[in-house]
Amino acid sequence: DRTLCLFRDDLRVTDNPALTAGLERLGSGGDVVALYVLEDSTPGLRPLGGAARWWLHGALEDLRRSLEQLGIPLLLRRGDSRRIVAETAEAARASRVHLTRRYGVAGQDVDSELMATLRRRGVAVEEWPGHLLHEPEDVATVSGEHYKVFTPFWRALRSRAVQEPLPAPRGGQGLQSVRHSLNGLGVSSGDLSRWELRPSSPDWAAGLREIWEPTERAALRHLEDFVDGGIERYASERDLPAAPATSGLSPFLRFGQISVRQVWHSGVRAGGTDREDFLSELAWREFHWHLLHHHPRMAEQNMRPTFDAYPWQSRRDAPELFRAWAQGRTGFPLVDAGQRELWRTGHMHNRVRMVSASLLVKNFGIDWREGEAWFWDTLVDADAASNPGNWQWVAGCGVDAAPYFRIFNPERQRQRFDPEGRYVARWVPELGSTEYPAPVVELQESRQEALAHYQSLG
Ligand code: FAD
Repeated sequence: DRTLCLFRDDLRVTDNPALTAGLERLGSGGDVVALYVLEDSTPGLRPLGGAARWWLHGALEDLRRSLEQLGIPLLLRRGDSRRIVAETAEAARASRVHLTRRYGVAGQDVDSELMATLRRRGVAVEEWPGHLLHEPEDVATVSGEHYKVFTPFWRALRSRAVQEPLPAPRGGQGLQSVRHSLNGLGVSSGDLSRWELRPSSPDWAAGLREIWEPTERAALRHLEDFVDGGIERYASERDLPAAPATSGLSPFLRFGQISVRQVWHSGVRAGGTDREDFLSELAWREFHWHLLHHHPRMAEQNMRPTFDAYPWQSRRDAPELFRAWAQGRTGFPLVDAGQRELWRTGHMHNRVRMVSASLLVKNFGIDWREGEAWFWDTLVDADAASNPGNWQWVAGCGVDAAPYFRIFNPERQRQRFDPEGRYVARWVPELGSTEYPAPVVELQESRQEALAHYQSLG
């Protein structure tokens, strides 16, 4: 009796219900084989951006090692998962497949099809939760609808009990047994390096390697460091980009190397007055995923259709402005620092993401989808819900968006959140010299223009 565990954005062995359920069958003489399919040619699925591909390579290497400890071989395949999962299950003579539920409509369509194919071929399928704190169907208003405003969503979420995480699995026969079962299966494990997920030339990933270790162990370390220290300063310092006051967990959560339940419960146990602020940020993640479930086209369509008439420009209409923004040469130091941080490290502080996105959409008049696509390619934590969800929030077209007239002034934001200039100095050392560009737009004028466009929407 063999179980095939299909991994996607749940690249962990701890608190992974689909895997744990597979391991429970080991006692009765069954065995487990794991599979990851690189779905870059599955129709409808958005291919990963460059930074995420880099992260994925490290995460798969790490997962392979952890599974080996448990005596489980990891098979790597590439292509259309609707076909490949069934073929692999057949080749490996698996009688059941376990997988973690996905929420974007494209992923769900693919999964419905692949599950139907498996069942038609006589393979049992079990779909498990694991990506969220609660299933979207379980958090509804009294009238049975989904929440469109964050605050009542957060209240509803906070009043629900979150299941405790599962313990880390133990035991297994180690590498010996992996070799043995691969020989017995007669299938190859697949060669990760052939996927070329990491850049070769130019190698733009040096900055990513410097600060990130994309492993499950590193995720736990980030969490421990944060609850042991950072969380005490979270409310007062989380908005200061120069202070290391946030958890740094987003890419690990993105790839499921830590579960949101693990993070939630550590946060709850940490106690203290700042705890609620931290938990509410996890609730923002949850809010965006629930929204994506109900608004499947969130990455392409304004959630508020009145914005369809807004005359945003594409990056082709304003190539110089877009380039200045992407390269961190707008002449607004806080935004430039953020964009350079992003390019170098695959990350940008949340406050700076908001200010930078606002400059692009409101002052440059460039479509939020252009900025979202840039972030998709460059962020290590870019995901299908939080990235479009936050862009729509900044642009004003999201369901619970920032009011349109609240246009961030990047200079005032800099004075307020980087008063000593430490963050800007780190990324824009040439500030104050002739090398540093003058502002590429006039803030007041572009602000008035944006407001006039907004008013014309009626
Ligand atoms: P912490 O402050 O330690 O927060 C803990 C966790 O809460 C984060 O890891 C994240 O999972 C969640 N979280 C915090 N803030 C938000 C938020 N506003 N929305 C959703 N989840 C949140 N976050 C992503 O994970 N992926 C994205 O693609 C993404 N794109 C963004 C785009 C824009 C324009 C903006 C303004 C924000 C975006 N964010 C995104 C949200 C936020 O900036 C990051 O989650 C945060 O900076 C990650 O750092 P951290 O893990 O140290 O956060």
